[in-house]
Amino acid sequence: MLKVDLHSHSTVSDGLLAPRQLVRYAAQQGVAVLALTDHDDVAGLTEAQDEASEQGIHFVTGTEISVTWRRRTIHIVGLRIDPGNEALKAGLARLRESRHERARRIAAELDKIGIRGSLEGALGYASEHIISRSHFARFLIEQGHAADMRSVFKRYLIKGKPGYVEHTWAELHEALEWIHGAGGVAVIAHPGRYDLGSTLMQELFTEFTELGGRAVEVVSGSHSPDEFGRFADLAKRFGLLASRGSDYHGPGHSYVDMGRLAALPASCTPVWHDWHEVLEAAA
Ligand code: AMP
Ligand code: MN
Ligand code: MN
Ligand code: MN
Repeated sequence: MLKVDLHSHSTVSDGLLAPRQLVRYAAQQGVAVLALTDHDDVAGLTEAQDEASEQGIHFVTGTEISVTWRRRTIHIVGLRIDPGNEALKAGLARLRESRHERARRIAAELDKIGIRGSLEGALGYASEHIISRSHFARFLIEQGHAADMRSVFKRYLIKGKPGYVEHTWAELHEALEWIHGAGGVAVIAHPGRYDLGSTLMQELFTEFTELGGRAVEVVSGSHSPDEFGRFADLAKRFGLLASRGSDYHGPGHSYVDMGRLAALPASCTPVWHDWHEVLEAAA
């Protein structure tokens, strides 16, 4: 079957593998079509593209944009974007910049519970591009405050916990404008991860569709098989195409290994259904 993985992270954001390493690993795992979708950045795409050509796999440009919608954080993946697009670059730069101010507030909150030096510690794990909660998580684990990623988020970094701070990301319409302006396709990332009841979920799908969004991740590393079915149905109801992505962050930091993702349910129209060069690459 066509091995397509349209959601992954490198060291440019919070992945553990550098862009080239990530692509090599994907090729080794039998992935035929890979998108790199670093949080709020496109800095790894050129290297990843070069390595993909060397490995003989098809590369899709991407990014995963942090969005605040109804006071909640959601993620919108942009695929087949032009990484040189000025408005997209400026929008993402604004989000990356705001991450520094947010990181200082996270560190100040952790200070209050006696955890010192977390900003410097987290920066030690980050690339020059992005500082994220994942980097705080690695510092907290290293300092012995938690055993693994799952428990460190649960104890310190999610809403209601001592190291969580509110933050305002891009607006939904901005994210879609940036993606569309750069010639890309907008995809709702891992909807199963959002704390939305069915009414709000439908409102999100409605707004996203009205803004020209085209697809939703039906099969995601962070979805259960039940959720594959649930989001396949919702996709159909809203006339959205279906995407498939592991959300791979590196060995030991991922819900699912590269190349191990389930197939899209048969009822779905894949987001790549009319990407002729992709279909050819995989034929
Ligand atoms: P940020 O964009 O800085 O808020 O960081 C979000 C990132 O943290 C996500 O992209 C995941 O990689 C990671 N993350 C969020 N929640 C969890 C969780 N419960 N367990 C493990 N990793 C998580
Ligand atoms: Mn991440
Ligand atoms: Mn995400
Ligand atoms: Mn992701």
